[in-house]
Amino acid sequence: MIEPTRRGFLMATAFAAVVPNIALAAADPYAGSPFRKLSDAEWKAKLPGPSYEVLRHEDTERPGTSPLLNEHRKGTFECLGCGLPLFKSDWKFESGTGWPSFYTAIPGALAKKTDLAIGVPRTEYHCAQCLGHHGHVFPDGPKPTGLRYCNNGVALRFVPA
Ligand SMILES: [Zn+2]
Repeated sequence: MIEPTRRGFLMATAFAAVVPNIALAAADPYAGSPFRKLSDAEWKAKLPGPSYEVLRHEDTERPGTSPLLNEHRKGTFECLGCGLPLFKSDWKFESGTGWPSFYTAIPGALAKKTDLAIGVPRTEYHCAQCLGHHGHVFPDGPKPTGLRYCNNGVALRFVPA
């Protein structure tokens, strides 16, 4: 009975070849984004200097410097790199840290990774579309999530409603 065994082997091989692609597409809907194809030089030409340093090289702006700290109108905060909407103004709160802070983000707009840059594990987050760095999320925010998305203002653009 060689045939069933061989058939089972072929099916298993085909399954293994297809499934990783499905999983990847589901986990990363922006994998084919043209923003992913931009070179570092192209980003540098496209963005203001401080925004480029934060978004593309994980720099941190000086606290208290962002005009968005005093932005209290209704609207949406988008990624300055690619225009993806990240936060609604309703979710912004006064954290007292000197960086624009939000207690939640638009579902699927951010991706996270563990960052050991300062020797203590922190959760870094970045734009799900262009992968530009935005900030870190901490578990000391207000209700209802208890989270604090601490975002560099220079990485955001505010669009009034
Ligand atoms: Zn982006």
